[in-house]
Amino acid sequence: MKIDKKCLYILEKLENAGFQAYLVGGCVRDMIMNRPVNDFDITTNAFPEQTASVFSSDKVIPTGIKHGTVTVIHENESFEITTFRIDGNYSDSRRPDNVEFTSNLTDDLARRDFTVNAIAMDSHGNLSDPFGGAGDIENKIIRCVGVPDKRFSEDALRILRCFRFASVLGFDIDPITADSALKMRKSLSMVSAERISAELVKLLGGVNVIDVMLKYRDIIGQIIPEMTACFDFEQHSRYHKYTVYEHIVRAVASVSGNTPESRIIRIAMLFHDIGKPSAFRLDEKGFGHFYGHAGISADMAVNILKRMKFDNRTIDEVCWIIAHHSDKITGEKSIKHLLSQRNLESFLMLIEAKKADNSAKQDFVTYENAEFCNFAETAKRLVSENSCLHVGDMTVNGNDMISLGFRGAEIGKILNQMLGKIIDGELENSREILMNYAGGIKNE
Ligand code: ATP
Ligand code: MG
Repeated sequence: MKIDKKCLYILEKLENAGFQAYLVGGCVRDMIMNRPVNDFDITTNAFPEQTASVFSSDKVIPTGIKHGTVTVIHENESFEITTFRIDGNYSDSRRPDNVEFTSNLTDDLARRDFTVNAIAMDSHGNLSDPFGGAGDIENKIIRCVGVPDKRFSEDALRILRCFRFASVLGFDIDPITADSALKMRKSLSMVSAERISAELVKLLGGVNVIDVMLKYRDIIGQIIPEMTACFDFEQHSRYHKYTVYEHIVRAVASVSGNTPESRIIRIAMLFHDIGKPSAFRLDEKGFGHFYGHAGISADMAVNILKRMKFDNRTIDEVCWIIAHHSDKITGEKSIKHLLSQRNLESFLMLIEAKKADNSAKQDFVTYENAEFCNFAETAKRLVSENSCLHVGDMTVNGNDMISLGFRGAEIGKILNQMLGKIIDGELENSREILMNYAGGIKNE
């Protein structure tokens, strides 16, 4: 297997200094699978200080000396180099009480979570694979290194990583590993919210997200207990062919791409209908209705996302999309009103969310998606034409309103009122007209 030039530099430099050095973990797995590599991890029998002195001509960051890790930056790429290590006891289901260095590569591989992540590769491309990881990659199987119950009780985050890798790599989970992970899911409560959220977001973007979220929905229920109300919840709606939960899962899966925006839209889809069970009403004809569910879902999502320690910007973007996901967009006016609340980027994310939502309904609903693409184009045009969409785009400002006698909160109120009328085409964005209009209101 061909090894990247920069990796070769790192491996050979350690070897030339008399140490063993291997690529290990996710990068080896991804190279075998011909997937793009996220980050290069290297394992070596050199102690951290020895590694640091081997790379004295590069930038070296003492990332986690206690755990044996230094980061070397070579030609703007960073390499985490960790000394062969055995993890001590795990008394808190999170991290080892102590770590011990070892001179044996197999010991280091044995501490790793899954067989597919426990393969080492030397500078010639030769594999050390004592746990059969290459075979599991071939057969598309996630399997614990060692006894699953023990490995999951050492570090509960592995439970979620197991489902994340199944989703992202498109693998099945070995039944013993899956049973153990499901059985031990409650210990996920020991893991920090940030680490759970990071794994969950990766899981949502996986090629196999539908299978994983449907088959192992109790894991999702463990992380987000509010979601369990959506399980098996029939919608009694002619627009829907799936239960609320399955619709949610399929909407998440309909979001493509690997950009920061697609990450936000996926999180929005995860929560967009979570308020449906509490908004549900069955009419006399037996049809289900969910009036107000978008607002309820947005409120629930704020609480859940805060609890899960998402950053405020993500929470703000996600919840705006959720709150508006079922807004009817009828044409330029409604597009302008939505644009005036946010900006073009948010509007385009909302459109993508609406498309993902529709893609998970009855087939006849999907026809609307072509129209949504037109709305996106219209929004881009409106912005490029410098349409008046925000108070700042108006030909009058706060000082003008003060000169007319407005004070305090009245100022924002009159400006917003006029903005609404400009958007609706009832007022022209001309200074003379707006000053006249505002003056008229003041003198009423
Ligand atoms: P990604 O593509 O997300 O980077 P990865 O497999 O590289 O996936 P990392 O979190 O970068 O995952 O970890 C690097 C390697 O360290 C893993 O491949 C695995 O060998 C080991 N590892 C990481 N986290 C754990 C854990 N919680 N328990 C055991 N081994 C772990
Ligand atoms: Mg990695």
